[in-house]
Amino acid sequence: MEKRTFLKIVSAITASPAFSPLIAWAAGDKLKNWAGNVEYSTENMYSANSIHEARDFIKKQGKLKVLGTRHCFNKIADSADYFLSLKEMDEVIALDPQARTVTVAAGVTYGKLCPYIHAKGFALHNLASLPHISVAGACSTATHGSGEKNGNLATAVAALEFLTAAGDALKVDRQKDAELFPAAVVGLGALGVITNVTLDVQPAFLMRQYVYLNLPLRQMQDHFDAIESSAYSVSLFTDWQKQRINEVWLKSRVEPGQEFHATPDFFGAKLATRNLHPIAELSAENCTEQMGVPGPWYERLPHFRMGFTPSAGKELQTEYFVPRRHAVEAILAVERLRDQLTPHLMISEIRAIAADSFWMSPCYKQPSVAIHFTWKQDWTAVRALLPVIERELAPFHARPHWGKLFAISPEQLKAAYEKLPEFVQLARRLDPHGKFRNDFLNANIFGG
Ligand SMILES: Cc1cc2nc3c(=O)[nH]c(=O)nc-3n(C[C@H](O)[C@H](O)[C@H](O)COP(=O)(O)OP(=O)(O)OC[C@H]3O[C@@H](n4cnc5c(N)ncnc54)[C@H](O)[C@@H]3O)c2cc1C
Repeated sequence: MEKRTFLKIVSAITASPAFSPLIAWAAGDKLKNWAGNVEYSTENMYSANSIHEARDFIKKQGKLKVLGTRHCFNKIADSADYFLSLKEMDEVIALDPQARTVTVAAGVTYGKLCPYIHAKGFALHNLASLPHISVAGACSTATHGSGEKNGNLATAVAALEFLTAAGDALKVDRQKDAELFPAAVVGLGALGVITNVTLDVQPAFLMRQYVYLNLPLRQMQDHFDAIESSAYSVSLFTDWQKQRINEVWLKSRVEPGQEFHATPDFFGAKLATRNLHPIAELSAENCTEQMGVPGPWYERLPHFRMGFTPSAGKELQTEYFVPRRHAVEAILAVERLRDQLTPHLMISEIRAIAADSFWMSPCYKQPSVAIHFTWKQDWTAVRALLPVIERELAPFHARPHWGKLFAISPEQLKAAYEKLPEFVQLARRLDPHGKFRNDFLNANIFGG
């Protein structure tokens, strides 16, 4: 065994009673994010099995970051010192049918939670494109799905339990903590270690998913509102070429008054006759069932199936939120860059998201449309393109996705987030010595 690997395992064993998950990466590659584009700055990781263990660890460390399921494309989750993993703490703690809430430990993924609550007759209001991500990590970065009436995933949070930098337990409840709650839910990992999350649930429902091909750009431009309101969740996928939206994904609830009635033509787009991947060349095996086949909400709301690789795998992602009222103008501004974008792009996706009240959410007080880019994994090319896109979207005060790649300056972020100074004050109060701050947060939020 190499000396370095041996030391890694020894330090893992001495630091952690739950060292077994470490051996997988200790014996292999460096610790990286899901896409492999970020090599984390340390391999020191402690895996806690209980709140008690997490608290002891937090108290002992000067600096640390919680690592969720590692699906962010930038360094928001990075640490130069220590990682705390709550992966082993993934149990459903309580389902309260009267209050219509479910409380989960922070390590749980949507992929584990959703089938459980469905079997008990309940559902969440929305999901991201993939179920593989952790609930705590997704809510911390304002991860969203689609649907103009659906807030991002954090809008389902009814309460959060944290451990602060001092190791103290702090519960933040939507009803009881009206001031702290909107500050804490999209916390960017800067306020403390989330140990439990309570989410709103609703009665389980069935959904159908249809895909249409080749929506003319002109139709999108003239009928954007009608298209966005045609189903519970709407996704427009485009490679920006040929003046068209390549695929329109419509997810509707199988309920009176909510159903989408699929006709062969949808604003000039044609109903697909087989299941498709958003990147047309890839196999639809990884994707949730389409063609109007009814199925449980958690097997239709995400585009990708649990147990399969979501999206493409070797990729980079970027996403910008613009106010809904500027959606068409912003989309057309990006479309004008088509010949610069397409060589580096796998696919773009356009989604609508309802406004929310979370200070650091890109949808804070603003119904939004998100323009997303799944790039080929060529950081040099993508890094050169980001300022070009951001320049075009600047008139619309675009806000970047916190978990994806962007070049927007800290000054612009400050201008885009009216509550950012108050968020910084709160973080400094809860974490006076910057235990949970890293280079990403220092540069983008705390002003260097
Ligand atoms: C293939 C793919 C598809 C995606 N699709 C979507 C999509 O449809 N919509 C969308 O909005 N985003 C999407 N994303 C982005 C993704 O949802 C976010 O990056 C999300 O944050 C991932 O959660 P995670 O658990 O992997 O977070 P990580 O990357 O592990 O961590 C993210 C942040 O959360 C913090 N954190 C995690 N757990 C805790 C905790 N317990 N306490 C305190 N802080 C914590 C971390 O410290 C870090 O700051 C996609 C990403 C991929 C790779």
